[in-house]
Amino acid sequence: MFNDGLAVRKAAWRADRSRIALGALAKAVITDAKRTAERAWLAAVSVDALQSSLRDLDAAYRGFFDAVSGKRRGGGRVGLPVFKSRKESRQSIRFSRNGFRIRGNGKLNLAKIGDVRVRWSRKLPADPSSVTIVLDPAGRYHASFVVDVAPDVLPELDAEVGIDLGLTTYAVLSDGTVIDNPRFLRKAEKRLKAAQRELSRKAKGSKNRAKARIKVARAHAKVADTRKDWLHKQTTRIIRENQAIYLEDLNVRGLGRGLLAKSVHDAAWSTFRRMLEEKAARYGRHIGIVHRTFPSSQLCSACGHRDGPKPLAVRTWTCGACAVPHDRDLNAARNILAAGRADRLNAPGGPVRPGVAIPHRARPVERGTHRNAADAGRKPRADGAAGVPAL
Ligand SMILES: [Zn+2]
Repeated sequence: MFNDGLAVRKAAWRADRSRIALGALAKAVITDAKRTAERAWLAAVSVDALQSSLRDLDAAYRGFFDAVSGKRRGGGRVGLPVFKSRKESRQSIRFSRNGFRIRGNGKLNLAKIGDVRVRWSRKLPADPSSVTIVLDPAGRYHASFVVDVAPDVLPELDAEVGIDLGLTTYAVLSDGTVIDNPRFLRKAEKRLKAAQRELSRKAKGSKNRAKARIKVARAHAKVADTRKDWLHKQTTRIIRENQAIYLEDLNVRGLGRGLLAKSVHDAAWSTFRRMLEEKAARYGRHIGIVHRTFPSSQLCSACGHRDGPKPLAVRTWTCGACAVPHDRDLNAARNILAAGRADRLNAPGGPVRPGVAIPHRARPVERGTHRNAADAGRKPRADGAAGVPAL
């Protein structure tokens, strides 16, 4: 449906630079298409789900046009929608309120599919407005519900924390907490590598190769699930214990590591940050992002002296001005806390508290503050609806 809609829109744009409205597009690729022999099978699929797919396409186009015209909030580049591949894309189908029903016996009724057995991971906090069924590479189907939830503001605390993305550890907190990469994750990754080796030994096109591929996909899914579960535990604890959480912006760190290791690490880091932002919005906490040019590893957190760049191998150093010894990551976390706090206390351009010198460009960028809490609580991500468990 997405590809059919995209083809029609591309053709119209090529022909006379026109943009087809959603209604006209639906008539062309759903109503009219059903009458052709080629697309007669569309009658067997829920119209509601077909329309959802076209709405996604429309949203993708809107995102592109907004970005081109500079209307997009937060800027950033957005490309034109591209055709989806049956092999590479995430296979999913979405039903709006009219397309599904939850039965009294716990089964999920989907339009034109029927009653489906569900293993519920948790109770839905309210009536869902839509459900997306996703097929993962391990061959498992997941149901992800979008639910409206009012923010559940936790009692206010005095504690605030800065977090440094660790190089040898996962992360270091300004209060001295070290979050280590868990051992079970490393074990799971070892199993994954073994499964991959086995797959590479199987003959192409053979039945054994197909079996080995599913094994690899299952091992991948296990690693992803385990990591996600672990991240939920970490982020929940941080949100529960702190009123404000300050993080460094991504990307500049991790030079000197392999390209693959870096991408895996960064992906885990952005999930960590997204979870913190979602939970902060929901539970009334503050997240401050310190700009990536902030020299968190060069400043002395005790006296504010800028001691100069430190090679990655340098794990501990002593301040040249005040002679205080520092653990590299803990010092960086303390600097991130100070920079984030300074920005929160002082209006942009206003006076900065004495003690920590913060270059102008190092002002934190704010995301997910109290102001947005109500909004964020009402608009859960479509694909992350199940992402924020209760504390
Ligand atoms: Zn110092």
